[in-house]
Amino acid sequence: VLQVRGLVRDYGGGAVLRGVDLDVAEHEVVALIGASGSGKSTLLRCVNLLEELDDGQVFLDGVDVSDPRADADAARRRMGIVFQSYNLFPHMSVLDNVTLAPRVVHGVERADAEERARDLLDRVGLGDRADAYPDQLSGGQQQRVAIVRALAYEPRLLLFDEITSALDPELVGEVLTLVRDLAAQGRTILMATHEMGFARQVADRVCFLADGVILESGPPEQVLGAPEHPRTQAFLRRVI
Ligand code: ATP
Ligand code: MG
Repeated sequence: VLQVRGLVRDYGGGAVLRGVDLDVAEHEVVALIGASGSGKSTLLRCVNLLEELDDGQVFLDGVDVSDPRADADAARRRMGIVFQSYNLFPHMSVLDNVTLAPRVVHGVERADAEERARDLLDRVGLGDRADAYPDQLSGGQQQRVAIVRALAYEPRLLLFDEITSALDPELVGEVLTLVRDLAAQGRTILMATHEMGFARQVADRVCFLADGVILESGPPEQVLGAPEHPRTQAFLRRVI
């Protein structure tokens, strides 16, 4: 689904990403780990073409979507991104938040968009909150709505950037459960996370980002359980 090749991103103070190569296969769940400031969010934003690439390519289903001649908006619509702090529109109901993009961007009829939205909300246990406004929901509920919104037009790839890190501990579980369900449904997911336990449970593969490259990549039990690279070992000693 996704191939990243030689990705370089420099904000001006030295390259944050210095040649990242990363593949995410169909139905694969890949967890991106690394120290704060290592460039996880930058990488996700580059993949979503929200950020300029200084070098390298991003391929989605074999097409170079980072090519300046490519239609970046079209590519972006095929990815669903969810950030750390839920970015729901506060003046819109849950249902309107979820149906906005399908209706306005994809031209889906309101009735069809709402039927699909209600179905998705039902499946994440929020069927009865469709008419609520974001500030009437808990953080975990808002984050589940943000995930439903990212699902509303069948993205090829889901990008999750630390989607539980702004939540109170007791609300983390419900969001993790939803991500686990999505993984079980065969969704393709690239997620930055600082929750090593979660990466271990849900990811097919863990990638450790340091020094602007993927230093180590493999199954969770290998990268988290028996890391080969000294930098991975040092990182895990700090966080676990
Ligand atoms: P965290 O775990 O804290 O979320 P991260 O791995 O997501 O960290 P990034 O947010 O990608 O790290 O940041 C990587 C580096 O790029 C940091 O040094 C940061 O200061 C820098 N950076 C990020 N965004 C910008 C920006 N818009 N302009 C300038 N520098 C930036
Ligand atoms: Mg980040």
